[in-house]
Amino acid sequence: MMKILAIANQKGGVGKTTTAVNLAASLAHLGKRVLLVDLDPQANATMGSGIDKAKLRHSVYSLLIGDSDIGQTIQPSESGGYAVLPASRDLAGAEVELVDAEARETRLKTALQQVAGQYDFIILDCPPALNLLTLNGLVAADAVMIPMQCEYYALEGLSDLVNTLKRIKQNLNRKIEIEGLLRTMFDPRSTLAQQVSDQLVKHFTSKLYHTVIPRNVRLAEAPSYGRPILAYDKSSKGAQAYLALAEELLARHGAQEAMPVM
Ligand code: ADP
Ligand code: MG
Repeated sequence: MMKILAIANQKGGVGKTTTAVNLAASLAHLGKRVLLVDLDPQANATMGSGIDKAKLRHSVYSLLIGDSDIGQTIQPSESGGYAVLPASRDLAGAEVELVDAEARETRLKTALQQVAGQYDFIILDCPPALNLLTLNGLVAADAVMIPMQCEYYALEGLSDLVNTLKRIKQNLNRKIEIEGLLRTMFDPRSTLAQQVSDQLVKHFTSKLYHTVIPRNVRLAEAPSYGRPILAYDKSSKGAQAYLALAEELLARHGAQEAMPVM
């Protein structure tokens, strides 16, 4: 069964893009057919997949405003082994241009339906805001993965995201679920990180991934080479952690599928 997973948190710098790119590459490495959708005008996921945002003819922007169709917009990531629906700077303008447009929240969903049969996973890298682009992502998604840094303000803002998700569930997307919370950039030597992590375990138990992504400089270096970590330093702790996350996701997914329908 195909799954559309949004990587969202309105906080910037929590590891959304790093997770989107490396989860996409890890799932591809495990034999899954993956499409990575870059919904952030900064286009970090696009560049990190080895695609030059300055050379794009078509992008999520042209797709959302109706100037390109999804087939001609998708590109392969050579370094990642997955397909990419790339972003460019002009995506920032989509918000304004779509403000009065018809079906403005459901445009991505409608476009993705056309290619759904070609992929096992569609991963959406959301921007750091609860704006129309994120909304398009959350309306299209089956589930949300929330990356969090284990720091003092980690939980602040989480209730805004959860409330937004509740409203989306009531009005625009009844099937959306929180797939899980992911601890990112984790430093086991930090007492604070350990305390915040313990709090997350206590409050979120089953919604928290067992896999923890460590702080690892190789993860921060890889994007400047236009490569996911698997194509940059496969033996690094960061690469191993994202592979473990992909395996955990597949195990959870398999368990859900195996559950009796009634
Ligand atoms: P977001 O998309 O939420 O804004 P990013 O994934 O872009 O966050 O991460 C923010 C910064 O932190 C980037 O420079 C990225 O390379 C770096 N980073 C992300 N995850 C890690 C990690 N596990 N270890 C070290 N650096 C990381
Ligand atoms: Mg990002």
